[in-house]
Amino acid sequence: MEYRAWFQCIGECGEKHELDEIIYKCQSCGGLLEVRHNIKRLKRRKPSSWKKLFDDRYLRTEWPYGSGVWGKKEMVCPVVDNDNVVSLFEGGTNLLWAERLGDEIGLEDLWIKQCGNSHSGSFKDLGMTVLVSMVKHMRAKGNWIPAVACASTGDTSASLAAYCAAASIPAIVFLPKGKVSSSQLIQPIANGALTLSLETDFDGCMKVVQEVCAKNNIYLANSMNSLRIEGQKTVGIEVVQQFDWEVPDVVIIPGGNLGNVTALGKGFLMMHELGIIDRLPRIVCAQSARANPLYQSYLTGFREYHPIKAKKTLASAIQIGSPVSINKAIDILKQFDGIVEQATEDELANAASRADRTGLFSCPHTGVALTALFKLAERKIIGPKDRVVVISTADGLKFPDFKIKYHQNKMKGIEARYSNLPVDLPAKYEIVRDAIFRILDKTLK
Ligand SMILES: *Cc1c(COP(=O)(O)O)cnc(C)c1O
Ligand SMILES: [Zn+2]
Repeated sequence: MEYRAWFQCIGECGEKHELDEIIYKCQSCGGLLEVRHNIKRLKRRKPSSWKKLFDDRYLRTEWPYGSGVWGKKEMVCPVVDNDNVVSLFEGGTNLLWAERLGDEIGLEDLWIKQCGNSHSGSFKDLGMTVLVSMVKHMRAKGNWIPAVACASTGDTSASLAAYCAAASIPAIVFLPKGKVSSSQLIQPIANGALTLSLETDFDGCMKVVQEVCAKNNIYLANSMNSLRIEGQKTVGIEVVQQFDWEVPDVVIIPGGNLGNVTALGKGFLMMHELGIIDRLPRIVCAQSARANPLYQSYLTGFREYHPIKAKKTLASAIQIGSPVSINKAIDILKQFDGIVEQATEDELANAASRADRTGLFSCPHTGVALTALFKLAERKIIGPKDRVVVISTADGLKFPDFKIKYHQNKMKGIEARYSNLPVDLPAKYEIVRDAIFRILDKTLK
């Protein structure tokens, strides 16, 4: 019996396809597809043996198993030959104990999973390595795929461009004009991707890219392509592994298109099914109040859901009004005693900056997740002894304008409570000394 995986419709019809078919939706009912695995085969290996295997491979050099994603290859994408794997050693990101921030809000056991410490600076690498590897595999088999394309709020395109460049596969990225940070814009440009700036928002880019892909045999790299979910699924497995195979009590993650929260849950469910863990954490999904269709649905007990027109938010990577993975995400949240929270612009900017004061360097989306943390700790829904993990989705360095404007206190509607400005001084000892003590005295008071 082999390790095997395939696409299967998440609807009742259960239609199946091979992973090397170019297909994103069920042909019978139009439902989303997900990747399913031969669980019987996976169950033939004992939980202790899986843990040992994963620990032996973790961050080592044997290709491609040192990658946080490919170290779990049997559970992620067993059908790709190792020769066709396109990996930039994604995953294996640090999980740090945020002792001081935890102290400030009365939590003893607060952790940050630094997914932004990855090749292109966001967690998107975890999924993109799987997708681009599959494209390389299909091209190697003689399939005609001229290029891979995606619509993006900035991080998917950066990641796609990097992996395609590494594999010498043409990449086309569709970006909403003026809605991604300058760092995010320069990433695909530097990697040689065809970079298209469209006068619309993310949801508008999504419509165009889907048509371009469908009519031209171009491979679509958005998260309706469930191969990416399989790679992103490893974040939950890796967190548990980093805790010596113990399950945290709560995991908080920001959500836009809702692929990542779905992937997080899927990873935990798979470990549970295989007996690697014996309980599930609670999952909290955090949204920007200006792009909150999931939050609004949560308020109705998930009985109602309406896509919305997302408004401009500092958390630009989650400025999405019509999330592709809405149904999968709701399904996951129901199984994980899920909570959805939201953050206003003022809350997310100050939460990110407050965390920065304890040594982090948070992106706005992590600010959204931290806001949810602060609110739930305040309401005692998260208790002082709970082991809590906040998924930090990108490196704050990707958002320089967010950081600079915050500290200059130049953001409309935001009171920058943690603003810290450089002090301009002449290069004279006395003046410098007086300034230092004037400022230190003020902060010590
Ligand atoms: C893509 C992204 C998200 C949201 O992930 P979804 O799967 O779209 O919910 C959050 N933060 C950052 C930095 C991202 O790039
Ligand atoms: Zn179907």
